[in-house]
Amino acid sequence: MKKEVLYVQSYLLNRLTSFLYKNGFVWMLPVILSKSTDPLFPDPSGSVIAVPEVEIYGQKLFLTQSMIVHKQYMISQGFDRIFVLSPNIRVERPERASTGKHLFEFTQLDFEIAEFDDIKARAFIEKMLDSTLRYIKIDMNIEMKNIHSSFRIPKPPFKVYDYRDILAEYGENWEEMLVKSIDQPVWIVNIPRYFYDMQDEDGRWHNYDLYVPKYGEILSGGQREYQYDKIIRKMERDGINRSKYTKLLELAKEGRLRPSAGAGIGIERLVRWVTDAVHIREIQPFPRVPGENIEL
Ligand code: AMP
Ligand code: MG
Repeated sequence: MKKEVLYVQSYLLNRLTSFLYKNGFVWMLPVILSKSTDPLFPDPSGSVIAVPEVEIYGQKLFLTQSMIVHKQYMISQGFDRIFVLSPNIRVERPERASTGKHLFEFTQLDFEIAEFDDIKARAFIEKMLDSTLRYIKIDMNIEMKNIHSSFRIPKPPFKVYDYRDILAEYGENWEEMLVKSIDQPVWIVNIPRYFYDMQDEDGRWHNYDLYVPKYGEILSGGQREYQYDKIIRKMERDGINRSKYTKLLELAKEGRLRPSAGAGIGIERLVRWVTDAVHIREIQPFPRVPGENIEL
């Protein structure tokens, strides 16, 4: 990998975490093994083929796919703003090696804000990206000149598109076509997916993904469900095994889950976009590409 990539990555991590810290967030540590991990289902862009389990001390535990359940737990415990740099294991289909953007081990900067809705969350994320990237060409002058002198610093607010409209306009290959047609990041909203993403009475999903020019999705997030009856109904609808979410459901039943919104940003995808890497493998010193053997 190019040395500059890691220097740019360090810069981005420093800017992102400092921004969150200055904005009152508590930085928690990740869990790698747990009883409840993100089902990642249903998701129109998902392709996970297995959720690895580890048996340890007589308990069956999952490798973390994302820490969404733990974020909702922390919010329920009275932490209003939390974030974590969370390693995620996702057994993506081997064919995804050729997309240039899929790994089977990657890191999310995952954050959650109590009492926020989707609109506030998007505005907050735009502010965070602006603060992270605004001075990159000055602060990382040499690195950016060497690897990506034409990087276009994004200027929020970003345009917002409804998932259904994008699908109707571009068809199944919408992501590929969309990212060729934009020169600023854009939001895609109202995506039918996970039980924990808020859906209102009209069926509208209060979630959002951020797509960047040329490279596609770098962030997914949403306003969350916190009411027991609704969560149960959605789990049943989607065929989610409730026994994997007993703690979350217990909190919901006791009325202790709180309204919140948040998101996860894929660090490798962010770095790939900023450093203009052809394949995401170029971002990892120890590449974790679906279907490929690892060296170290
Ligand atoms: P999700 O909530 O599933 O969309 O995951 C949050 C973010 O993590 C995505 O927007 C991507 O930036 C990143 N991400 C998800 N899956 C992968 C993967 N297989 N390889 C690399 N990054 C990923
Ligand atoms: Mg996503």
